[in-house]
Order: sequence, then C-alpha cells, then structure tokens
Amino acid sequence: MSFEPRCPICRQAVVWEGNPHRPFCSERCRMVDLGVWMTEGYQVPGEAVDPDADDDG
Ligand SMILES: [Zn+2]
Repeated sequence: MSFEPRCPICRQAVVWEGNPHRPFCSERCRMVDLGVWMTEGYQVPGEAVDPDADDDG
C-alpha cells in the first residue's frame, strides 16, 4: 500500500519529504490555494484609488 499525495491544485504528484509547500507541489500552487493570484490582480498599478484610503502616515 503506497501513499501518493497529489497536489490539490494541479493534480501532480507531490514530493512529500522535504517539500516545504506540501500538500502542494510548489509554492505557486500554494499561492493559488491562498487566493494570492486573485489579490495580485486586485492591485492594478495606475488604478485610481480613493486617496483617503491611502493612509501612509
Ligand atoms: Zn501543484
């Protein structure tokens, strides 16, 4: 009986031992799971944002 973990994102076989991104195959898939890619698209350079929201005091 062998346990072959697979990445829940891309369904590739995952190297389990020594893999810091498990249960994902890579950092990329881990980020996808966290929804970071969606957040990245949210930050559009040059996008006119509310100046009041930019509070860098
Ligand atoms: Zn993957």
